[in-house]
Amino acid sequence: MNVILLGLLMIIAPIPAFALTSVDSLRFVSRLDSMVTVRMDTLEARWGVTFDDTQRPGVRLGLPTEIPAGSRWMYMGVYRTDSMTISLEPPLHYAPGLPWPLAIVVDHELVHVYCDQYSRKRGRGRWPSVAHVDTTSLASMMALRFQVEGIAEAATSPIPFNRTVPLKQWLPSNPKQMIDPGLGSNMWTYCGGRALVQPLLDAVGLERTVEYVQTHPVNVRGRSFRSALLQWEKQARRDLGVAP
Ligand SMILES: [Zn+2]
Repeated sequence: MNVILLGLLMIIAPIPAFALTSVDSLRFVSRLDSMVTVRMDTLEARWGVTFDDTQRPGVRLGLPTEIPAGSRWMYMGVYRTDSMTISLEPPLHYAPGLPWPLAIVVDHELVHVYCDQYSRKRGRGRWPSVAHVDTTSLASMMALRFQVEGIAEAATSPIPFNRTVPLKQWLPSNPKQMIDPGLGSNMWTYCGGRALVQPLLDAVGLERTVEYVQTHPVNVRGRSFRSALLQWEKQARRDLGVAP
């Protein structure tokens, strides 16, 4: 989850000016853990899905250290499939009085958890991972990223989806646009990913969308990035019976 869609809710300060006490840390971890329980129930009821209780995600405060200092401010939460852990930034830089953790941040990460659990349960290993992508191809990796973030955004965003904008306008022509520093890359990733997935999700629900996406990677060979994504979406609509 990045901050771009939540700019109105947060005050962003790149470097917190003070540290948490250990008592605060324990309190925040406990709050996050309780929120995970509550939001799992909410997402199960909303989407008719079931989380795997035996693979409950861990929680921790603070983003993973490998996220570069310069881009940490763009992220409010991270789910790592290798450790099955949700990490959230502590609320040091939130506006006074804002609740923490925000339900929509936890929801977004929990959809990643659901996708990961779904894949593991079917013997496909963790999802996403390098096993599901051609790591020599940026287009292949970014296409997977589109799907991963698109599902999480489409399933949880409180902002109504704008159906009047043609899909191609949400998609970058070059996958490099998704890794450029700054908010532009996040805009492509989260808004574009959502635009790719939302009509499918609305029509067939979360579980069928996850099943389809995990078994139908985008074929980026021999096409431009944008036309590969458009072709994938067209085929997905056909396969899932979703009207254009
Ligand atoms: Zn995400």
